[in-house]
Amino acid sequence: MKEDIRELYFDELSERLVSMGEPKFRAAQIYDWLHKKKASDFSEMTNLSKGLREKLSESFYITGLRPVSVLCSKLDGTRKYLFSLGDGNVIEAVLMKYHFGNSVCISTQAGCRMGCRFCASTLDGLKRNLSAAEMLSEVYEIERDTGERVSHVVLMGSGEPLDNYDETVRFIRMISDGRGLGISQRNITLSTCGIVPKIYELAELRLQITLALSLHAATQEKRLATMPIAGAYELSSVLSACRYYTETTGRRLSLEYAMAKGVNDTDEDAELLSRIAGRLHAHVNLIPINPVKECGFSEPQKAGIEHFKKRLEGLGTNVTIRREMGRDIDSACGQLRRRYMIDAGLCTD
Ligand code: SAH
Repeated sequence: MKEDIRELYFDELSERLVSMGEPKFRAAQIYDWLHKKKASDFSEMTNLSKGLREKLSESFYITGLRPVSVLCSKLDGTRKYLFSLGDGNVIEAVLMKYHFGNSVCISTQAGCRMGCRFCASTLDGLKRNLSAAEMLSEVYEIERDTGERVSHVVLMGSGEPLDNYDETVRFIRMISDGRGLGISQRNITLSTCGIVPKIYELAELRLQITLALSLHAATQEKRLATMPIAGAYELSSVLSACRYYTETTGRRLSLEYAMAKGVNDTDEDAELLSRIAGRLHAHVNLIPINPVKECGFSEPQKAGIEHFKKRLEGLGTNVTIRREMGRDIDSACGQLRRRYMIDAGLCTD
């Protein structure tokens, strides 16, 4: 069976090449083609002999993602990509332009099995995990398409990164490797719904990434009403794991809080949230919920969100309202993919 060459760490690639009888420096050349020049075929590797290129293509293949559609915002340059994986599954990734650089939001799974009640990506369940090479290719394809450097990566597209732990860690290590794109780990944010044992495992790796917890409710009872994962891991144990993460890595925690009208937007919610943020020294990101037709949630009025923010600030909490990007190409996260799957007859409804 052929192996995906883009999936290999530099050292693994070196080992493979040495065992093929190649000199050590070949690994640097090939890694450069794969991860800096973003080659999609061995024939592009023009500083290798034809013989070696042929030998490589007998043992390896290179992951490719095919852009199916790209939506571009005229307001702020946001670009939403729908990519087709080799096996017909589709995933979304989004490029957002900020004053500090270009940030890409990538998917870690095709679909998701976490079942959060407000989320479009989980409606049709998990199709499969993405490989690290596929995650890398999301970023590489976007760089190829725009001709611009990506400086930040957020793992906030479809899927639960900690439910695809090994490949996600491999992705983080490879994208931050200076022999490839070399994106600083401090510019990488991993968002999780709170898989407790994996948060502890991740802490032990002492990566310098930012951890974002999708909190969305400040009590166990309320959280359980929208996030089934809370049935497996109580809020108190998720918060202890997050505390351990910040203490072990020295990195600050972000708390994601998607606000839904009449669900988690009262003054009492603000007080409880501020207590949690205070104990963890965390930053709160308020996100006006993106209404998804099948889910039945709506966002509070702008004034309500502002009031909630003021209330938090009054209690000493560090908080921002997440700016909506690409409002003119607005489709809530996951909906581009879902619409495509419905049209292709891949969804049940
Ligand atoms: N599974 C991970 C990462 C993917 S979801 C997680 O749960 O964090 C990325 C973020 O988008 C999460 O905070 C998630 O809760 C949020 N999200 C999902 N659906 C949303 C919606 N309809 N409106 C606003 N945020 C949403």
